[in-house]
Amino acid sequence: MIQLTTAAQLENAINKARTVKPFVRVNRFGSYTVTNKQTGATYTVECMKRDGKRFASCNCKAGARGNACYHIAAAVSAHIQLAAEAASFAN
Ligand SMILES: [Zn+2]
Repeated sequence: MIQLTTAAQLENAINKARTVKPFVRVNRFGSYTVTNKQTGATYTVECMKRDGKRFASCNCKAGARGNACYHIAAAVSAHIQLAAEAASFAN
């Protein structure tokens, strides 16, 4: 599990995600399945907010070590979009 603090923290992972272009499937709000279409590898990313802090976890090797992997970067961008849509729907 990693705490998401700055955008710079995810910069390398975002760049990798832009290259790999993984497929993100929404399991539910906060839970995403990220698939590398080239290799077929599939990982689960969870995004959550606790005490106003944002956290994410991924079950790949890098994510399990607490690193911001590109799966997290891809899922977080989908998560932020979903959260924005949910917020606009509530208004
Ligand atoms: Zn990962």
